This record gives sequence, structure tokens and C-alpha cells, in this order.
Amino acid sequence: DPATLIKKLVVITGASSGFGVELAKLFSAAGHPLLLVARRLELMQALNLPNTICTKVDVTDYKAFEDAVRDAEAVYGPTDLLIGNAGVMKLEKVWDQDPKEWQEMLNVNVLGVMNGMKIVLKDMMARNSGTIINISSVAGRKAFGNHAAYCGTKFGVHAISETVREEVCATNVRVSVVAPGAAETELLGHTSNDSIIEGYKAWKQTMGGKSMDAVHVATSCKFIYDLPQEVNLRELVIAPTKQN
Ligand code: NDP
Repeated sequence: DPATLIKKLVVITGASSGFGVELAKLFSAAGHPLLLVARRLELMQALNLPNTICTKVDVTDYKAFEDAVRDAEAVYGPTDLLIGNAGVMKLEKVWDQDPKEWQEMLNVNVLGVMNGMKIVLKDMMARNSGTIINISSVAGRKAFGNHAAYCGTKFGVHAISETVREEVCATNVRVSVVAPGAAETELLGHTSNDSIIEGYKAWKQTMGGKSMDAVHVATSCKFIYDLPQEVNLRELVIAPTKQN
């Protein structure tokens, strides 16, 4: 039966740059059909991956996000893996930061991850299978100056994911968190404060000037997914060796 030869649907949020692009390329090369979710549609389409639906969706819009997942499932079958990767990082001191930036980080990094889980979990539980990998950060495990709101959102990703993991584990559904350290993506470009950006770049000099290649984060997600469904690597921290 040719249908059994086709690998299962993988949904990747934030697939227009950084980790999301590497995740899309890696899971596509392994034969999975994909749903790619982000706002910059043309960047996802330019990847030109087979069996891939690209959708211009903001993860904070629950209805649009759910509709995109249901449409992809109608074509490729149930979602077997959701990678909650979309995120924003706007660095600033609390007393200098526009509260709109706190709100955006909370909306995307926390509520976007929760939206994704709500959309796929009931079906995964009913099938007694499925995997969710949420992308947190080393900033979800320790504090960094200028990162108050960002750290808050990423600590939240750990807390929320671990809570949901406990709630669903009896159904054999896996929830895992990957916490990367500094990596070369567009992330630093979200911050508007030039002196904070310069400070971050100076910190990167302590790692040899270049931080981790995004591909290694994608590889670690693939490793988690490829373990047997009965084995859940609950949390993985991956960072440049020289990151303090
Ligand atoms: P990028 O800025 O390169 O990618 C962020 C992605 O998130 C983009 O595809 C962007 O797409 C998407 N995104 C942002 N807001 C939304 C939204 N409202 N709806 C849908 N998609 C959205 O950064 P990274 O690849 O580095 O970031 C990926 C994840 O990794 C984030 O959660 C980040 O916090 C985390 N991380 C990154 C680290 C690093 O050093 N790079 C370290 C630790 C964690 P678009 O703008 O097209 O919507």
C-alpha cells in the first residue's frame, strides 16, 4: 500500500528563517510532508520543498492557525509532530522597554506555543501517538541581563510544556522542550537597541565570534523525534561549547 510508505505530517512554526528553515529542510529530506507556518510566505515557498504546504499565518491567531492545520491534515493525514518554534526576542531593560514588546513576546512565544498544542493534542491523544517539541532557550533556564520579558516567556515554555507532558503522557503522546544557546539566525535583529546588539556581539566574541549553526538545533529535534514513541527525551539543552 503506497500510503503506508509516506511519512507522517510535520508542522513547523516559524519556518521562514533560522531554525525553522533548517527543520523544514531536514524533515523534508527524511521524506515527511510538511505544513510550514509563518507570516513571510515567500520565504517558505522559496525553499521549494516537495509535499509541503506553506501558509501565511500568525501563530497568535488561533482560528487561522487551526484552519491551516486542518487543511494540511485533510491532504496528508494527522499531524504526528508539531514543532513550536516561532518566536521573537526583543532585548531591553524593563524600565526602558515599550510594554507592546512584552506583549508581543508573550503572545508569540507563550500563547503561540499553547495555540499549537491545543490544535493538535486532542487528536494525538485519541490516536495514542504524536510528538510536540517546543523551542525554548537557555534563557528559559537561567537569567540574562536585558532579557527580562524574553526570559519570562521562555521559562514559561518550560513550565507549560512540562505541565502538558504530565497531563498527556498516559496516552503515549510526547512533549519535549529544546533549549538552544546562541545560534546564527535573524533573532538578534528583532532588538531595536543598538548598544544591546553591540553588547551581544561582543559576548559572541567570547565564543570565537560566531555562535552555533542553526542546523544543529534541527538535528537535535530530529533525534528526539526519531526515538521510539515510548521514549521521551523531555528536555535538551544545546549551545556553543564556549557559551558560558
Ligand atoms: P528567527 O528570527 O530567524 O526566526 C523566527 C521565526 O519565527 C521566523 O520564521 C518568524 O517568521 C517566526 N515568527 C515570529 N513571529 C511570528 C508570528 N507571530 N507568527 C508566526 N511566525 C512568527 O529566529 P530563530 O530561528 O533563532 O528563532 C526560532 C526560535 O528559537 C524562537 O522561538 C527563538 O526564541 C528560539 N531561540 C533562538 C536562539 C538563537 O540564538 N537564535 C537561542 C534560543 C532560542 P515570520 O517573521 O515570517 O512570521
